[in-house]
Amino acid sequence: MKRWLHSPQARALGLAILLLALLAGSAWGLQQGRSPGESFLPELEIHFIDVGQGDATLIVGPEFTILVDAGRHDRNDVVPYLRSVGVEKIDLLVGTHPHSDHIGQFPQVLAAFPVVDVWLSGDVHTSRIFERTLDAILASEAGYHEPRAGEVYTLGQLRIEVIHPQQVTGDFNNGSIVLRLVYGDVKVLLTGDAEAPAEHEMIARGHDLSADILHVGHHGSSTSTSLEFLEAVNPKAAVYSAGKDNPYGHPHAEVIERLHRRGVKIYGTDLHGTIRVTTDGKSFEITTERMPQGSPILDAAAWLEGCAPGQIDINRASLEELVQIVHIGASRAEELIAKRPFTSLDDLLRITGIGQGRLGDIKKQGLACVEPV
Ligand SMILES: [Zn+2]
Repeated sequence: MKRWLHSPQARALGLAILLLALLAGSAWGLQQGRSPGESFLPELEIHFIDVGQGDATLIVGPEFTILVDAGRHDRNDVVPYLRSVGVEKIDLLVGTHPHSDHIGQFPQVLAAFPVVDVWLSGDVHTSRIFERTLDAILASEAGYHEPRAGEVYTLGQLRIEVIHPQQVTGDFNNGSIVLRLVYGDVKVLLTGDAEAPAEHEMIARGHDLSADILHVGHHGSSTSTSLEFLEAVNPKAAVYSAGKDNPYGHPHAEVIERLHRRGVKIYGTDLHGTIRVTTDGKSFEITTERMPQGSPILDAAAWLEGCAPGQIDINRASLEELVQIVHIGASRAEELIAKRPFTSLDDLLRITGIGQGRLGDIKKQGLACVEPV
C-alpha cells in the first residue's frame, strides 16, 4: 500500500484524497461554526410498533435503547420486533401504567434482554399479568424506580423529562407516566393512557409540553387529547397506537378532527403499521410500514364536517380553487357551483362523472372539505 503511493497514479489519488479531506474539513468547520443548538446529532430512531390495540414505543439512540410499554398480554410481537431491529440490551424499560395492553409482554422482554432500569408508575393492579411483571422485575438484575413529575434524566444526548404523575391515586390511566424526550431541537411527548384530568394537571403545573411529535393519549380516545392540551403541545405530527377494528372505536373521530383542524399530520398503527421517526436532533422524518411515502391520513377530511386550514370548501371556493381538486376540471367546477350547497363530500356524487372511485380519490387527496351553509 505504501509502495503504491509513490507511483504517479497514486500521487494523483493521494491528491484527490487530500482534496476530499480538505473539503470534508471545511464542511466540518462549518458545522463547528454553528451554535451548539444547531449542530447535528447522531441518528435517533423512535419506533411506534404496531402491536394491535396496545402500546410499545422503542427509542434507539447512538448508545442507548429505551422501550416505553411492551404491548398486549395476549400477543407475542414485541421481543420478535426488538430482535428484528437488532436490540441486544435495554437501558430503560418503562411501563406507563399497569394495564395489560401496556405491560403485557414485560415478562418476555425481561427474560429476553438484559435490562438496566425499569420504571413503573407505582399504581398496583391485582391482575395476573401485573403480578407476573413484578416477579419478572424481581428475577432480573434491573434497577427499579417510580419516576415523578419534575425529574430529569439524560441518556447520551437525550434528555428525558418526567412530566407526570406527581403522585398515583389508583386511577391507572390518569396516573400514566408521561415523558417528554428532548433530542437537540426535536421533542417527543409520550403520554401513555393519560386522559383529560391528567392533561389538565400537567398544564396547571406549568411544564413545557411543547413537542414536535405527540404520541396521542389512550389510543386516540376522546377522553384524551383535550383542546387545551393540544394547544399546549402544539405538535406537527401525531401518532396513535390502536388495533384495526378495535371494539372501543379508537381513534375517536373527535380526536382526529381536533388534530386535523390544527393541521397536525396524523399517523396510526392501525392504518400505517409500525411508524418510525428518524431524527438528527434538528429535523425529523416519518416512515411507515404500510401506505406509501409514509403519508399521513390524507382523507381525515372524510371523517369530518368542516374544513382545516389549507383545504378547499366546496360550498364557497372559486372555480380556480375548485379545479385543484382531483377529477374536478373547469366544467365539473361550473356544475359544482351551480349545484351548491353540498351537505358532505359524498354529496359530490351528484356531479356528472363523479362515482365512488373518483369520490374515493377526492377524499384521499384530502383537499376538498365541506363547511355547512
Ligand atoms: Zn391502553
